[in-house]
Amino acid sequence: MNIVFLGPPGAGKGTQAKILIERYGIPQISTGDMLREHRAKGTELGKKAQEYMDKGQLVPDEIILGMVKERLSQADCEKGFILDGFPRTVAQAEALDKLLLDMGKKLDFALALIVPDDLLVERLTGRRTCKNCGMMYHIKYKPSKVEGKCDVCGGELYQRPDDNEETVRNRLKVYHEQTAPLIEYYRNKGILREIDGSKSIEEITQQIISILEGKA
Ligand code: AMP
Repeated sequence: MNIVFLGPPGAGKGTQAKILIERYGIPQISTGDMLREHRAKGTELGKKAQEYMDKGQLVPDEIILGMVKERLSQADCEKGFILDGFPRTVAQAEALDKLLLDMGKKLDFALALIVPDDLLVERLTGRRTCKNCGMMYHIKYKPSKVEGKCDVCGGELYQRPDDNEETVRNRLKVYHEQTAPLIEYYRNKGILREIDGSKSIEEITQQIISILEGKA
C-alpha cells in the first residue's frame, strides 16, 4: 500500500502516519524528520537545509528528491510506504510519479487532512516532541504525564524551532501557495480522499482505516 499524506503543517500527518506504521507494517517517510536528522548529525545536507527550515521556506528540490529516491529504494519500502511532508509542490509530485514509474510502482491513496488555519497555529505552537523517540505531545490536547518528559521513554520533550508563531504563519503561507495545489493534482488522478482533520486523533484514524480497507 503506497500512501501520500497531504495537508498543512500541524494537520496530524505525522501523528496518523505513526499509528498506521504499527497497523500495516510499512514505514513512514517524513522528509522533515530526515532533514532534522541530518541537521542533528551536522551533515553537509543538514547544513544546506538549515537556513530554509528556520525561515519556514521549502528546501530546494535537488536536496529533497535525492534523499527521497534513496529512501524509497530501501528494502523496507517493498510492501509499501507512507509519505509525510513530501511531495510539497507540483514539481515534486511529478518527480515522484516518474520515480515510482521507474521502480514499477504507483501511489494507491492521497489522503488529505483538512484543517482550518487558526486551529493549525494553536496545534503547532503547542506541539512538543520527544528528543529521543519522536513521540509527539500537545501542551493542551495531549499533555505528557510529567511535564517535559516523554511518557513512552522518559526522553526530554522539546519545541521544534520552526513551531514559533511567526515561522508557523510563514509555513502556512507556503503551504497555501505551493502545496495546496496538490489536492487538485491528486483529485485529477482519482486517488484523492479528503478527511476532516479537525476531529480527534482516534476519529481520524478510524476514518483513514475505513478508507484504506475499502469500507468508506
Ligand atoms: P515538516 O516536518 O514536514 O513540517 O518540515 C519541516 C521543514 O522541512 C519545512 O518547513 C521545510 O523547510 C522542510 N521540508 C520538509 N519536507 C520538505 C519537502 N518535501 N520539500 C521542501 N522542503 C521540505
